[in-house]
This record gives sequence, structure tokens and C-alpha cells, in this order.
Amino acid sequence: MTRKDRTEGILSRKEVLDAGERQKYYQLQLKELLNYAYRYSEDVKKRFDRAQFSVEKFKTLNDLKHIPILKKKELIFLQSMGPRLGGLLTKDIGELHRIFMSPGPIFDPEDHDENYWGWTEGFYAAGFRRGDIVQITFNYHLTPAGLMFEEPLRNLGCAVIPAGPGNTNTQLDIMQKLRVTGYVGTPSYLMHLAQKGEEKGLNLRKDLFLEVAFVTGEKLSERMRNKLEKKFDLIMRQGYGTADVGCIGYECFHKNGLHISNKAYVEICHPDTGIPLKEGEVGEIVVTIFNKTYPLIRLATGDLSYIDYSPCPCGRTSPRLGNIVGRVDTTARIKGMFVYPHQVEQVMASFEEIKRWQIEVTNPGGIDEMTLYIEATSFRREAELLHLFREKIKIRPVLKIVAPGTLPPKIKPIEDKRRWD
Ligand SMILES: [Zn+2]
Repeated sequence: MTRKDRTEGILSRKEVLDAGERQKYYQLQLKELLNYAYRYSEDVKKRFDRAQFSVEKFKTLNDLKHIPILKKKELIFLQSMGPRLGGLLTKDIGELHRIFMSPGPIFDPEDHDENYWGWTEGFYAAGFRRGDIVQITFNYHLTPAGLMFEEPLRNLGCAVIPAGPGNTNTQLDIMQKLRVTGYVGTPSYLMHLAQKGEEKGLNLRKDLFLEVAFVTGEKLSERMRNKLEKKFDLIMRQGYGTADVGCIGYECFHKNGLHISNKAYVEICHPDTGIPLKEGEVGEIVVTIFNKTYPLIRLATGDLSYIDYSPCPCGRTSPRLGNIVGRVDTTARIKGMFVYPHQVEQVMASFEEIKRWQIEVTNPGGIDEMTLYIEATSFRREAELLHLFREKIKIRPVLKIVAPGTLPPKIKPIEDKRRWD
């Protein structure tokens, strides 16, 4: 079977605007968004008025910094402040297409637009092509990932197997029988599939037919990428986004950073002041998404990175985000899910036997592992705890019960011991 060319081509003209056109494009999109959001979103109006920012003041991209940043964590509280998700939405909830819920809890609205989450260009850049058969291993339940990544594949003319996570043997079986060409999921789950496949005696290059993989939700080390690309003989590219805004950036064939989406304006800001930093400096990723339904303006993601404006050999002219070098706060992204200490605390509060707890995150072999330590003298409600934990946090931890006084006196709720090469 001859392979498709997955290395060439650009999907949208907006990806190749020259510098002048791009400035104008951003300015126009932002001006329109600010006007609309101020008019129809109660929360935006409140926020602009409080900061004495009038939309007329927005003349150049530089003026955006006068709008206070919105921390992702604030969404939890803002959304509970009244109808239309606390006035963040510009239309009624009943007019939407879907409403998801991700940990926080934060509601993630989805409107009817064809490329609502903005991943289509990114999937094309990653190498997905018409006629691909793609297995999506992200969760379809409540959180948006599964359905979010179906959208670009539908737009590109690919068939999707909505596999969701887990059932590894069945997943391998489907891949083999249907000659699946594309994988969408976390890199660590693909590694898990590789390990299970090898244990079953499969030759990953001959018995399976994967040619392209899109991964996100976890840090991808080059070592992990090389290993998986070799094992399956495929091209692996990653994307970066959140459940609130969808696509923020995506890699092209040249894998030298994440091209910023045409639907986003990204600033790198000082995490405390929200003031944009100089080119190349590391700071918090602050994103304004061109989304009139749910206008998140200057949303601070909590992820740290930098922007690279040098040209890319692929021809796309959008600036690129570098590596995500860390998180601003203690919130950790584990197996693609944000884990908030206060949410873990809520789970623990239902078990009076638990005196103290701590989460430890490691990544042996590049795969995230979460261990939950609890201090208790006699604890018999393990199953109940794991069930509740999974329901709330969406991840199943390894549970370790230790005697009171075992954990050090001063502990961080989430101890991130992951190492990236
Ligand atoms: Zn490129």
C-alpha cells in the first residue's frame, strides 16, 4: 500500500499571511471581538468598566495590555455567578451545541461553527489527510477532548473510531482489523499500546498500519517521540490547547515549535502583573480566542513558554510557541487533566479517617504516574475513595496508605517529580 504524502501543503491562506497582513488581521479580529463581547457579555462589560477600558481605546495590538488578565482558575467562580455561565456567554445556554464539563469544575461551551475548536489546520499540518481511519483515545464523557478532536477529522474527510480511553486489547484489535492509519491521544497511552502490542507478539510496523499520530495533553519529550515514531513507523506531531478555548498552537512537519492558531492572539506575560514580556522571554501564555460566543479575553493559561518569530521552512508565517517549560502555580497537568489541590481536598474531606494526604507525580519511562499518599491508622474504604477520586479528578491514582507522621511535616499538596530530558 503506498503511503500518503503527509509532509507538504498548507490548508488555509490565513496560515501564510505576510507580516503586514497578519498585523492587520489580528487587529481587525480583536477589535471586532472586543466590540461584540462588550456589547453582549455581561462579564466582559463589567470587567472592562472596572478597568476603565473603553473599546475605542483599542487602536493597536499594544493596547490590549490595558485589559486585565483573566486567570483560568477564576472561571470556576465566575461561571457560578448567574445565567449564561455568569455572564461569560453572549447567548443563552440552550442555543449552544454542547456543554462539557472539565475538572475545576469548569463548563466548556461549544457552539455550532464548523471549526469551533480551531484544530483543523493543526491536524492537516500534523499530516492527517482525506481517507484516513483515525482512532481517538481521548475521553468522550463530559470532558470535550474526544468530540473536540472529531471536528477537524470530519472537516478533513477522515473516518473516526470513537474508542475513548482504556480497553487496550480491544483498541489493538480494532487497529489491526480496520487498518487504522491515525492515532489521536496522549503519547503515554500510545506507548502503553505499544507495550501491550509487543507483549501480544504483534509486529507494530507490519501488523498495524499507523502512519500519523496527533498527541496532546502531556509533555512530549523528543526521546519519547523518536521512540514511538520508530516503533510504529509513523509521524507524530503535537498540539497545544485547553478545554476552554480549543487550539492554541500546533506543530508542522518541521517540529520547531507550535504555530499559533489563526483563531488566537497569544501574548507572553509576566505571571503576576499580566504585562507582556519582550520577544523570546519566558512567561505565562495569555490567550485571546476569536470566539464571539464565549469571549475569553486575555485568558491566562498558567502554562509557561516563549514566542519565536523566526521564519519556519514550512512557509507558515504565524509566530510559534516554544516548549511549555512549566506551570505558574501548583496546579499540575497530569495525564492531560488539570489537577487542582482544592478539588482533591474536597474528596479527602469525605473521609474523616484521613489525617493528611499528598499527591506525588512521576513519569517512569515517560508515562505519567500519580501516587496518592494518605495518612491514616486504619483505612478500609479504599474502593470508595478511589471511586470518588476518579469521579471528581478523572484520573485513577495509585493509593498508598501510610502511618500518621510518615509524610514530612511541610508538604506541597502536589509534588511534581517528573523529569523531562
Ligand atoms: Zn512550520
